[in-house]
Amino acid sequence: MPFDSKVSMIPLCEPSIGDREREYVNECLNTGWVSSVGEFVTRFEKDFAARLNVPESVAVSSGTAALHLALLAVGVKPDEEVIISTMTFIAPANAIRYVGACPVFIDADDKHWQMDFQLVRRFLEEECDRRNDGVWNRVTGRKVSAILPVHILGHPVDMDVIMEIAEEFNLKVVEDSTESLGASVRSKPTGTIGHVGCFSFNGNKLLTTGGGGMVVSKVPGIAKLVRDLSTQAKEPGGEYIHSQVGYNYRLTNVQAALGCAQLEQIDDFLLRKKQVASSYRSAFAGSCSIRMLDEAPWANSAHWLTTILVGNDCDSSVSRALIQKAAECRIMLRPLWQPMHLSPAHTAFSRGPLPVADRLYAQGVSLPSSVNIDNKQVERVIDLILKVVS
Ligand SMILES: *Cc1c(COP(=O)(O)O)cnc(C)c1O
Repeated sequence: MPFDSKVSMIPLCEPSIGDREREYVNECLNTGWVSSVGEFVTRFEKDFAARLNVPESVAVSSGTAALHLALLAVGVKPDEEVIISTMTFIAPANAIRYVGACPVFIDADDKHWQMDFQLVRRFLEEECDRRNDGVWNRVTGRKVSAILPVHILGHPVDMDVIMEIAEEFNLKVVEDSTESLGASVRSKPTGTIGHVGCFSFNGNKLLTTGGGGMVVSKVPGIAKLVRDLSTQAKEPGGEYIHSQVGYNYRLTNVQAALGCAQLEQIDDFLLRKKQVASSYRSAFAGSCSIRMLDEAPWANSAHWLTTILVGNDCDSSVSRALIQKAAECRIMLRPLWQPMHLSPAHTAFSRGPLPVADRLYAQGVSLPSSVNIDNKQVERVIDLILKVVS
């Protein structure tokens, strides 16, 4: 296919910014309240908590900061272990390392591509010892203190099972819901089922504030602790007294203004994501060279990023050739993340083989899924993929 400069570029996932965003940001600029205190921060937290039906939410500077504070708030200590999906963007694995803890990587399940809870259970039952003071990894000698399920690509992990396991083994649960705002597990919103949930408002997420994040929790005390840690643990009042080492992780009022405007449109955004996903799904249903994630009967996906699998086994040549071909036609496709058990950043904790994640990594190709992609563009993506892959 020859390069045609008249054809528009189709990005992977870009934000939708409209008049309401401009209005709120202007309001911020006009009042001078641009920093980490202001009406929009309070309102964004309140509206977000109401949307998810939780008592409180705390706005922070990124999804990664949210995960870092969440792990601190549930009490994960240095040298403890945290069970986490291997098939994920790197942020939650890094957050585990920030608190000095050690990730235990768990493979994905073949159908929904999420953390395989059977493998979580098998790790705890077969590789750990249960003592009065908790669960200990027999091989490393470390205490296992938490599970960090990551709901990838908008589809949830089965949190009901994860919570059962957590209760049985007395573990804390931090949900990474950064890709699944709007998804639910048997009608319960992701991020509100574990002890604490984390969201991201990075530019490619469902809602964006440019950069930002949110922590929610129903457990008494956790939101307050997160808020404390996010503001240098400064005690209330005019004096500069800090109860412990904290962080400068607050969201600014300008960012929150964007967030308020975006949150008003969340249902429209979710609807469009679902339409885009179902256009792709029906277009590829007849192709035996393209496979897709199965939406679980107990799940409601947020359809954040539609992803297909092409090629065989751990051969990545078909997926990478497709990405290359699409780039020549000004369509941005992306591979899935290198699984964490293979990441040079986390070699000290490599585990394996984790064959499902390896296969997803080799075969996965994410498709343009912006809320403002139009139907013609979706058709262009579909035509190209069918032409190249078939
Ligand atoms: C986007 C994302 C995050 C958080 O990212 P920030 O850019 O720090 O907001 C965390 N985990 C996953 C799985 C993500 O996709």
